[in-house]
Amino acid sequence: MKDLQELFAYLQTPRRIILIPHVRPDGDAIGSALALRMFFEKRGHTAEVISPDDFPDFLNWMNQSDKVYIHLKNPRTCFALLTKADCIFFLDFNSLKRIEHLSEELKKLRQQYVSVMIDHHREPEYFTEYVLWNDKASSTAELVYEFILMANGESLIDKPIAECIYAGIVLDTGVFQYSNTTAKVHDVAGKLMEYGIDIETIHNNLYNQYGENRLRFIGYLLSEKMQIIEGHRTAYMTISMQEAERFRLSIGVKEGIVNLPLAMKDVDMAVLFTEDKDRIKISFRSKGDANVEILARIFFNGGGHKNASGGSTRISLDESVEYLKKVLPEYEGMRGEGGVRKE
Ligand code: 5GP
Ligand code: MN
Repeated sequence: MKDLQELFAYLQTPRRIILIPHVRPDGDAIGSALALRMFFEKRGHTAEVISPDDFPDFLNWMNQSDKVYIHLKNPRTCFALLTKADCIFFLDFNSLKRIEHLSEELKKLRQQYVSVMIDHHREPEYFTEYVLWNDKASSTAELVYEFILMANGESLIDKPIAECIYAGIVLDTGVFQYSNTTAKVHDVAGKLMEYGIDIETIHNNLYNQYGENRLRFIGYLLSEKMQIIEGHRTAYMTISMQEAERFRLSIGVKEGIVNLPLAMKDVDMAVLFTEDKDRIKISFRSKGDANVEILARIFFNGGGHKNASGGSTRISLDESVEYLKKVLPEYEGMRGEGGVRKE
């Protein structure tokens, strides 16, 4: 792995930069990509964001979000941009499988490009030349802020850049409530406020722009679908494609729903199974000591963080639920006495 100072020297000359967030990108991934796009453009580079697939509507307010190229919708344009890239940044993920089909496109590229990963997820696969990785960081957005400072770019931060970074931090810390909310997070958030960002508007944009259908759907899920797995302090919910259609759930509408069962005192792990065309997407959330990163990585071909992870299966919705019930005892026994919940 090379010294980041070498990268900063390389970036003294205008370059064609591509910024790539992970598949089904969240606000941290998109906010980080857009903040860096604006920063690099101010530095005289050409920068474009290429997302593997669409991002949620509640991020549409972010400056330059309308300029994001969606690879699934526009593969040729994206490939043309990639073939011209001098430098590619991989944001908010640490394994190439997290960009799915887009990683196949990268393999087709003939030219050499400088590669950089900025990420905060556990168990990184070091697939780039340059890395800014810290699993103690609340978010990739926090690391993007650090990156800009390291590049002596503080004076280039403006309101739109600060808004994107702030939003990434807010979303990944659950509005400064999860255990990844360090003193540094508050410090960075305070500094970002000095750029004139309006935190009430950002909050409303992120959390209060949903349609009536989302609330009706949450009501239905909690009353009709939520199940508690006795003896395992675990609650789960399932969403079939049929239900998603019935409630007209667009991308991003399911955001935050997985957390809801954690409000119960007798539950410290919440699982949401969502049926997709070719797989079941599974979200895990926990509070306190319960380590869902291990569960997601070892049993569900995924990963993430101790209290927030994701994975997937290629079996049916019902089979996936049965599989969870089957592996829970094994998972809990994995660290011996007390299991992974007492890590
Ligand atoms: P979510 O449940 O919101 O999709 O994801 C929670 C966390 O787990 C995020 O930090 C996300 O990046 C990570 N994550 C989600 N799905 C996967 C997956 O399939 N593989 C890995 N390695 N991480 C995932
Ligand atoms: Mn993140």
